[in-house]
Amino acid sequence: MRNISLPQRSQRTFWSPVKAHSAGAPAGFDRMGWARRFCGTGFLGSDIGKDYKLKSMDLPDARERMVTVQVAGRGVRDARVLAAMREVPRHRFVPEAMAGDAYQDRPLPIGEGQTISQPYMVAAMTAALAPGAADRVLEVGTGSGYQAAILARLAGSVVTIERHAALAARARATIDALGIANIRVVVGDGSNGYPDEAPYDRILVTAGAPAVPESLKAQLADGGRLVIPVGSEGLQHLIVVERRADAFTTSEGEGCVFVPLIGEHGWPASR
Ligand code: SAM
Repeated sequence: MRNISLPQRSQRTFWSPVKAHSAGAPAGFDRMGWARRFCGTGFLGSDIGKDYKLKSMDLPDARERMVTVQVAGRGVRDARVLAAMREVPRHRFVPEAMAGDAYQDRPLPIGEGQTISQPYMVAAMTAALAPGAADRVLEVGTGSGYQAAILARLAGSVVTIERHAALAARARATIDALGIANIRVVVGDGSNGYPDEAPYDRILVTAGAPAVPESLKAQLADGGRLVIPVGSEGLQHLIVVERRADAFTTSEGEGCVFVPLIGEHGWPASR
């Protein structure tokens, strides 16, 4: 991946590709997969995958279809990420009444006005993060706990932080019920990171921020990587920050739309 300077916001063009794409894609992507439009706590304009309700016996088939059609079919090639998406039962992370919708090609509501991200978006961000098997990972924005469970398959340990105590409690219950032992769920303002367990080899933010929080950069280990959607509340770009000693390099991906990161280094709670 070629590192580029962040353009001034006024220089950014809605939906236009940015230089990082022509230079190459982050680990785990093919160039087209990266260059294709991210969107949504997922991604808009999809013509792949149809909405369908499932019986519980169909869920493994639906998960396989999700991986092959929605994820691999759109260019996420990282075999470890694909394996994790095959292994983690996404339907356990959505409200029970929505289990039959869990493998659809879209985000789903999880309560508190929040969403579990679209499967493709989870895979794309995980591939961009490229966690190693022994890595210590911080996720900001636990939501349902699904992204944390994917990261936990790939990394040594995961700390995930959520500002809504009710979501954190539900995520923790799901993670415990699945017997996943290397995730710690904490409640708090993740825009400050979680200094108690810093530094982290990888930090993934799953809510949209107005800028890259200095607090998160400071908690990156040497050689570490941070992936975060940054922009306005209506449109962000996926930003990858890499740290080498005290130098930080930044690359920018395509547009996406996430719920806001609310907190001291995010958006104010009351707007
Ligand atoms: N990763 C989640 C999953 O797998 O279900 C989806 C995350 S959802 C798109 C974004 C989450 O970020 C919401 O649950 C929201 O409450 C949380 N959030 C927003 N601002 C936050 C903050 N400052 N600290 C912690 N969590 C925050």
